[in-house]
Amino acid sequence: MNLTILDVPSDDLRSVHSDSDEEVVTYPEFNGKVDMVDPVLDVGLKFRSKKEVKPVVKNFSIHNRFEVIFSYNDKNILEGHCKGKKCLWRIWASPLEGDSSWQIISFEWNHNCSRALKNIVYPVVG
Ligand SMILES: [Zn+2]
Repeated sequence: MNLTILDVPSDDLRSVHSDSDEEVVTYPEFNGKVDMVDPVLDVGLKFRSKKEVKPVVKNFSIHNRFEVIFSYNDKNILEGHCKGKKCLWRIWASPLEGDSSWQIISFEWNHNCSRALKNIVYPVVG
């Protein structure tokens, strides 16, 4: 008797996934051990917890020579932006449902501040 298989309501099957089509995509998972030195941030990137998001974004900013400010930080969202005046660079992360993971949900790449464009001038000794 294999009838029980047919009895599984389709709603139950769907509830495993969310309503979003993006659910089929396998998101890259952040590996703190490897990527911490030069983190690559992108929409969809998953973190094991919120605690991981901040230092990674910080490191990213250091590596890319700008200063990030976390302007919004609660249990549903973490928003970081560039310190540059009127700069558009922004990043948002939010928790994934039913899990302690966090994910980058939106990312505005472009700096329109001079801060990020300036090359660091190293002092010449001697
Ligand atoms: Zn900027």
